[in-house]
Amino acid sequence: DCCLGTSATAPASSGAAAAAASSAMPAGVALPGCELLRLLGEGSFGTVILVRERQTGNLYAVKIMSKAQLASEDQLANIALERQVLREAGPHPFIVECAAGFQTENAVVLVLEYLPGGDFYDLLRSKGLLSEEQAQFYLAEVVVGIGELHAHKFVLRDLKLENILLDADGHVRLTDFGLAGKVNTVGDTSITDLSGTAIYQAPEILSGKGHGTPVDWWALGILAFIMMTGKPPFGGSDRAELYAAIEKAEIDLESNPKAQGWDPITKDFIQGLLTKNPAKRLGSGGVQDVISHPFFRGIDWEALLRMELEPPI
Ligand code: ATP
Repeated sequence: DCCLGTSATAPASSGAAAAAASSAMPAGVALPGCELLRLLGEGSFGTVILVRERQTGNLYAVKIMSKAQLASEDQLANIALERQVLREAGPHPFIVECAAGFQTENAVVLVLEYLPGGDFYDLLRSKGLLSEEQAQFYLAEVVVGIGELHAHKFVLRDLKLENILLDADGHVRLTDFGLAGKVNTVGDTSITDLSGTAIYQAPEILSGKGHGTPVDWWALGILAFIMMTGKPPFGGSDRAELYAAIEKAEIDLESNPKAQGWDPITKDFIQGLLTKNPAKRLGSGGVQDVISHPFFRGIDWEALLRMELEPPI
């Protein structure tokens, strides 16, 4: 049940890399004035290619999704919402910036700022687990990003290590809003479909009773736990056992060996986020609840927002 497996990619020579990138370009999609540099990765619905705009030298990560594949999996509405999130919630220091979005006959294309620091999954794999102090910094940036999404009435619903990218200086950028949901108010819990990544799903998503913004605070609790221990707090030998553990939501950090040595404030923070009842969960009253938790003591939020705080690793 370890979340930090291996997924190394071999560096390719630039000629071969450019050829691979150009062969990954779907027919009918052209990026005039841009040089294709290399394939950055492949998601469930398409491809992400690193390109350089010839005139400016700017680098972009261009995400190209096949309409046929999106349609076959009923994802066209999600993509429309992903574009809406990028348009309405950005630009923001902790949310990936979208320079342009367009569609061709067969594809939907998002031109995103290029984030060279990789994702948080790779950061943990290469640098090891985070101390409470290191986690405090990254989680603070994530919290501000989530707060911005919520302020625009979006629920991220897919917060996880892989969806936190890092810029050249090591600041976080939330990305991948393909599963986002829209609510009418911060207290609205009218979303009912099951989505997201199993280990991060909140109990109310599994019970199907309707959910809203507190699911992102639950996922923050899972994320924080993984950052500091390398493992999710709830597990099981199969999906059914995992879901049963999540629905029970019993987490006893006092006797949990992984949390040994944690400051009681850290335990209280995680426990608050991993509260089964979304109405009682830390964050249910809004982002300010989370920001005010003593786990974030000492953070200068104004400086954080100006990206003046130095990433610890
Ligand atoms: P899924 O869509 O199934 O969740 P995913 O998150 O891997 O999968 P994408 O968001 O399409 O899919 O990303 C594919 C790869 O491209 C990932 O490895 C990701 O780290 C990389 N990537 C995505 N956006 C950027 C970006 N703006 N800058 C740099 N790399 C990026």
